[in-house]
Amino acid sequence: MNEQGRDSESGCQSKPDLFDNCDITTSINMDGDPRLVTALSLDDTVERPSDTSEIVQLDPEGDATLIINGSGYSKRYLVCSRVLSLASPVFSKLFGPNFKEGQQTRRGDCPCISLEEDDSEAMGLILGILHYKCAQVPFALDPTALATVAIHVDKYDCNEALRPWAAHWCSNSEDITAPQDLGFMLLAAYMFRSSSFTKITATAVKQLAPGFASAWGGHEALALLPEAVTAALSDQIADELKKLHEELQCAEGRLRHQVSYHTMSGIVCITCGRDLPDEARQCRRCNNTRLYSKACTSDLRVAHYFGILGRCGLWPSVEPFATKPLSDIAFRFQCAQKDHRHLCGARGHCPLIHELEVLCHRAQGVLDSIKGISFEEIGVN
Ligand SMILES: [Zn+2]
Ligand SMILES: [Zn+2]
Repeated sequence: MNEQGRDSESGCQSKPDLFDNCDITTSINMDGDPRLVTALSLDDTVERPSDTSEIVQLDPEGDATLIINGSGYSKRYLVCSRVLSLASPVFSKLFGPNFKEGQQTRRGDCPCISLEEDDSEAMGLILGILHYKCAQVPFALDPTALATVAIHVDKYDCNEALRPWAAHWCSNSEDITAPQDLGFMLLAAYMFRSSSFTKITATAVKQLAPGFASAWGGHEALALLPEAVTAALSDQIADELKKLHEELQCAEGRLRHQVSYHTMSGIVCITCGRDLPDEARQCRRCNNTRLYSKACTSDLRVAHYFGILGRCGLWPSVEPFATKPLSDIAFRFQCAQKDHRHLCGARGHCPLIHELEVLCHRAQGVLDSIKGISFEEIGVN
């Protein structure tokens, strides 16, 4: 079928020249290997873009048109095959002499190439950067968009050309605390081999719950993170949680060995253990008159310590230390320090008050000393 025949069949009177050769669909797999699925006539299987769809002239004198069909809508880009070939070995192969696209480009036929699986937004951004259209490139990308761009940069192996942008985007991770967003940032930093990777992993160690890896394994994008990364993160989270758990137990040990005695307000019935006001002379519940002044002793401090931990969700300790992120545990230690129900004559010098301060301080020290994971540690060059 000649070109004219196709024109009349499509019923399009004013088809742009760009689509005169729109007869190729190309699939590029995740390894960046271009596979010519088949060369089909436009009237067969390749969906012809509507004439109203936007065409972005990244190079007004471009020699190929890319149609990006992913993420729900289609967008067309007039591109320079040489620029793309210089930036990406994948495009270099596609536009080389062994592929039909390359042969058509070399003949000046301006092929129309449909990239079916790619995300329109991400590819638009990447193609724009590769054609020096940087005025429209955002200085910040949300984690999901950044991860999508990183996946496509990795697919087309054009990391080097986007290195300055990638470094900038990945450096904006300070405010990110939501687990899934941290996952997207990690994925982007990993794909880009960004120098921010270690810093982002340090944040992830503090913010992720121990079971994060199983949730990510079922996520389409996050599952792309290599097991070496998630395993190293899981190990570090477990190690640091163990340190905090040991701090909690050590504080109890120190409290048991501190034998100081301090007065407390209030009296207690030694029969039923009920707290009574200072002026009480008899426990009305059991008619007992043997009432003793309350005292801050080692045993009472240990009892109050576990009472405070319980109110902050840290006792019993097995569940929180197996399921909560480090940042959450450290916050609970802060809450424990602010629990003011224990009041004795020693006031701020009471061993219990002191130990709660020490616990909080040491927990912060554990968090501050988290270094994150380097590419060397997980065997990535
Ligand atoms: Zn009583
Ligand atoms: Zn006390």
